[in-house]
Order: sequence, then structure tokens, then C-alpha cells
Amino acid sequence: MAENDVVIGLEIHCQLTKLRTKLFCGCSSDYRDKEPNSNVCEVCLGHPGSLPKPNRKAVEFAVMAGLALNSAISEKTSFYRKNYFYVDMSKNFQISMYETAGMKTICEGGHMEINVGPQAKTIKITRIQLEEDPARLVHIGPIDLSPYTLVDYNRAGMALLEIVTEPDMSSPREARLFLQKLRSIMEHIGAYDGGLEGAMRCDANISIRGSERVEIKNISSFKEVEKALNFEISRQRSVIQKGGRITRETRHWDEIRKVTISLREKEEEHDYRYFPEPDIAPLILRQEFVERIRRQMPELPDARAERFIKDYAIPKYDAQVLTADKRLADFYEESVRLYGDAKTVSNWLMGDVLGELHSKGLELDEAKITPSTFVNMLNMIKGNEISGKIGKIILPELITSGKSALQIVDERGMRKVSDRGVLGGIAEEVFSENAKAVGDAMQDDNAVHYLIGQLMKKTNGKGDPKIVNEVVWDRVRKLRGGTAG
Ligand code: ZN
Ligand code: MN
Repeated sequence: MAENDVVIGLEIHCQLTKLRTKLFCGCSSDYRDKEPNSNVCEVCLGHPGSLPKPNRKAVEFAVMAGLALNSAISEKTSFYRKNYFYVDMSKNFQISMYETAGMKTICEGGHMEINVGPQAKTIKITRIQLEEDPARLVHIGPIDLSPYTLVDYNRAGMALLEIVTEPDMSSPREARLFLQKLRSIMEHIGAYDGGLEGAMRCDANISIRGSERVEIKNISSFKEVEKALNFEISRQRSVIQKGGRITRETRHWDEIRKVTISLREKEEEHDYRYFPEPDIAPLILRQEFVERIRRQMPELPDARAERFIKDYAIPKYDAQVLTADKRLADFYEESVRLYGDAKTVSNWLMGDVLGELHSKGLELDEAKITPSTFVNMLNMIKGNEISGKIGKIILPELITSGKSALQIVDERGMRKVSDRGVLGGIAEEVFSENAKAVGDAMQDDNAVHYLIGQLMKKTNGKGDPKIVNEVVWDRVRKLRGGTAG
């Protein structure tokens, strides 16, 4: 499929989950798992006369995100009311930001590099703004078949960072890489915890062959973005192929049926009747304030990848993959600290662990493996208690069960067999069952390797390769000596 005619831009809503309170009130930002509509007050419900007060830490996080994304930080910015009539916002407007008549959102412009294959690609950032999260709508089954909608305001008023990109991505994969890195950056600045359900949501604009752009709304899971975009590309191509026309519209990604469905024709911006929020004074971000934040910026993924290359002598590619997820990078560094050999740790992590997580569709934080159980397994291999092959066999259980490697190996009877007596006994069986191969082995070394393979098979891969090798060769040499003499 040609992808060079695909144009994708993203609008990401990232909850600042590390804040203790919502954006304009003292309600807890830890709203998940609470009884519906219990984590609310007159401010986040928008009762008349209630007064919103901006959360200072939210402003700091927005500036940090702007600095991390190479944006210009606005000296003066204002909150605006974005008016709309819908149940997810009980006051009928969302407090957001807006660019108009000299006013700016909190951060403007910027860019991020993503690693697409060997070279980097620059994705431009349009703007970053702070706004409040609406209520959560709960549907019964698919959105268009749900007999009713439930509204839970516990989420209403959560601080959101809205990050808008230019339409610089040309494949669903690039969109995923952008989101991954954005997530890693937000985690590294300490604003966001990637493990929380629905904490980073994404709208994607997509058009192909210069036709109208379609917006896919509220893709709630990180993993779904690439799937939704791939579906939408095929859908649009097939409409065009049949001679149809793509209309400008908003579509919804149905995670259950894995299709996009039409929701409505796209609203125009003037429908929202933006006007300045009269209850909040403009934010003046003095240079000292911004400079203080700049000095206190933590290490970001790119710098961390550079450090990994330097300190751990691992390839650039490994360093980029490991730092694309803060929890993975933390897992790696902790494992290296416990085990020592940085390259062995990265080989196992990059290859077997990530491969297994990927095949199970799991994120690292959904798995039960920890640096200590992981290193425990590496130590058993190093101490010759199990083979590397057994390590690979027990890894899936290590990832899903939370048991230690030692426990799994004992439960499954997988400890390495290195007892010469035991292996000699098994060798005797192998030799008597493979008379032809034994005959061939008198001249042919390949036949000896075959016998070694048979012995390993009888031990279910638990035989110590070195000793298995010695036991078989000893026997063959004796037999060869016997025939010669
Ligand atoms: Zn509240
Ligand atoms: Mn928004």
C-alpha cells in the first residue's frame, strides 16, 4: 500500500495525572474507581457563582512540556470559554485557551523528532494549551447502539494538556511513534502516569490524495491509534476507488468492532463562540519563572538515550527503544544495577521480553515481571543452573505469573542436568535406540552431532550442553578405538 499520499495530524489530550487536584478546584485528580459523581464540587460542576482558580503546578507542567517540545512559551496567555451544549459539560462551556487577536495559548510552535527507521523525522507542534476535561460518558456496548448514556462528572475539571501537531505524519506507524515519544516525555517531566486508563486520548485528522480530511475522535487507548488509522485509510481508499467522495466529518473509533463510524459533520470553529473567561485573570509568565523551570528540567528521553549509549555501550537503536517508554528505561537501569552486564540485559529485554509482551499485547506495567525476578533468571543462566534455552522457555511464565525464576524452574522440573552418571545412562539408551547413527558415527562427525541432539532431546533441553557433548564423544571415541583396534 502506498503511504506517501497519506497526511495525518494529531490532537492529543493528556491528563496531568500527577497533579493532586483538578485544574480549577480542590477536587482530587485521583477520580478513577470512585463512586460515580462523588468527586465533584460547585466549581467543576459549574454552579452559577462558583469561581475557578488555576492550579499553579498545572501551569508549570504546561511550561515544562513546552520546553521539552521546543515550543515558545507565551509571556501572556488567557483562558477562554469554548461554548457548546452537550451533557459532558454541565456549564455548557469548557474553559480552554484560544489564539486570537494577539492572544496566545500557553505554548506555541515547537517540534519533536521521531525515529522512523534509521533517520529521524521532525514533526512540528502547532500549539499546546491547558483546558479542563469534560465528564466521562458511559455507553452500554457500542456508542451507536447504546440505549442510553450515563454521565460521570468525577473526571470533569481534570487538567488536560492539549497538544496539536501539524499534519506532518504520513503513516499510522509514525503517529504511533509520535505518541509513544510524547508519552515518554510527559512521564519524564513527571506530569503523567502512562499506566492509567484513558489518561492520554487522541483525535486524529487524516486525509488521502488531497481529499477532505476526516477526524477520528477520542481514541482512548494508546494501542488503538495505529489500528484506527489503518482502518480509516482502507475505508477512504475503497470509497475513492468506487468513485465516491470523502466528506468532511467526525468519526468515532469503535474499539469493540474495530471500525470507525460516522458521528456528525464537523463543527466549524465559529460554532463555539469563544470568548475570554471573565472569572480568571490572564496568566503572566515572567521570564524568571520560565528560566527557573528550564533550569530544573529533568533528563528527557533523548538525553537519556545518549547517556545509555555512553554509559552502557549499547547501540543507538537499543537506547532509543528502551527510552521510548519511561517504565522500560527505569526497568532497564534497575536491572543493569542488579546484574552488571548492560549488554546482556538489553539483549534479553529488547529481544525476548519485548517480543513476548508484544505477542501478548501487554504493556510492561501490565506484566508481573520485575527487575529482580528478571535478574534472578539471568543469574541462574550465568551460574549454569539453567540453560539460556530454558530461560527463554520460562520467560512467558515469568512475565505473566509474578513467580520467581527459581520457583518456575523447580515447579516445572527444569533445572539443568549436569550429572555425568545420569547423562551417561541416557546416552546408553540413545545409542541402543539409534544403531544406524552409531554405525555412521564411526566415520562421520555429523552423525555424532545427531546423537548429541538426540540426547539433548531426551533431557527436554535440560542437559548441560558441555557435559552432554563430552559424554557422547567419550563413547564414540571408545567405540572408534574399539573398531580400529
Ligand atoms: Zn471540583
Ligand atoms: Mn481540547
